[in-house]
Parts: sequence; C-alpha cells; structure tokens
Amino acid sequence: MNIILLGAPGAGKGTQASRLKRKHHFVHLATGDVLRLEVSRNTEIGKRVKSVMERGLLVSDDLILEMIEQQVQQAASRIAFDGYPRNISQAESLDKLMSAHDRRIDKVILIDVGESELIERICGRFTCSQCLTGYHTQFKPTKVDGVCDVCGSTDFSKRSDDDVETIKSRLEIFRRDTETVLPYYDQKGLLYKVEGRSNIDEVTDQIEKVLGIV
Ligand SMILES: [Zn+2]
Repeated sequence: MNIILLGAPGAGKGTQASRLKRKHHFVHLATGDVLRLEVSRNTEIGKRVKSVMERGLLVSDDLILEMIEQQVQQAASRIAFDGYPRNISQAESLDKLMSAHDRRIDKVILIDVGESELIERICGRFTCSQCLTGYHTQFKPTKVDGVCDVCGSTDFSKRSDDDVETIKSRLEIFRRDTETVLPYYDQKGLLYKVEGRSNIDEVTDQIEKVLGIV
C-alpha cells in the first residue's frame, strides 16, 4: 500500500507520517528531506541538486522524479509520500513511475485544517536553542515559563519564517497547488479527507481507519 499525505504547512503531515513509519512500517518519503539528505551525503544526485541550487535555480521536476524513483526502488515496504506531488503534471509523472515499478498510489489523504487555526499553530512554535526541543505557546508550553524542560536553557528561537505574512503566502501557494491535485485524485476515487483540527491521536485514528490498518 502506497499513500500520499496532503495538508497545508502546519497541518501535521510530518507528525502523522512519522507515526505511520513507526507503527506501520511506512517509508516516509518527504521530497524536501530527501533532497537535503542527498546533498549532505554528496551522492550523484546530491551533487547535481547542489549545483542547480548554487546557480540559484529551482530543482527541476525531472531531477526530483529521478530522486523519487531511486527511493521507490529502494523501498521494500509501504511508502507515504509527503510534499509531493504538488501539481497535476507531477501527479501524472508519479503514476507513470509507480506503474513502471509495479506499484500504485492506493489512497490520498488530505489532513484538513482551517486557515486561522494553521496560522495560530505555526506562529506559536518555538525551539530551545541548545537542545532543539520544540515547544508551542499554546499546545506545548515549557513547564516553567522561559526555561527549557529538557536542558534548562533560557535561550529560545522562533523560526525565521514564522511571520504571519510569510505563512499566509505559504498557505496561498499550498491552496493553489492542491486545488489542481485534489480533483485529480478525487476523480480516481482515491481521495479521503480527515479532520485535522482534532488532536494528534485522533487524526492518527482517522488515518488508520481510512487505511484499514487500525
Ligand atoms: Zn533545551
């Protein structure tokens, strides 16, 4: 079984994907992470990605697809795609690639969260500068105000892009991308929506039900 997780920035895709990995042995294929890993390992593809980025260009669809194909060949088990595909042309390419390897996308899950909630979630995130433990002003505050629970540091950082305008434009890009991808999978009868406003465990429950792997 191979699935695609869709959701806006802050919807909890990464969290859910890592649970699927831990509990149900999915390979979590986040294209951004794989790109960074290839670059840091200085692999053949990594070198090409690096040279593209050094020239200030965007990594081409073909290069991303090549990287995905490599991952698909290596993945013996279930795959959870995260952050890909972002448009119809990528969705079609992925279908071709999968069928070339006798695999297919079985289900596509949209983790649905309203915009105002997303902005609240993303804006509240902060991280201990010493041990990198993540917190949230509302959902996961430190036990003692201003002191890291884990290492006792009082030095915290907020992500540089945690500015409301930046977040709004990221959400806008997401909306524009998914507007085309959602109907593509809906027409194939593969699209499922889960309510992403629930707590993390409830979202996991919903996903497991959709996948029939409770
Ligand atoms: Zn800390």
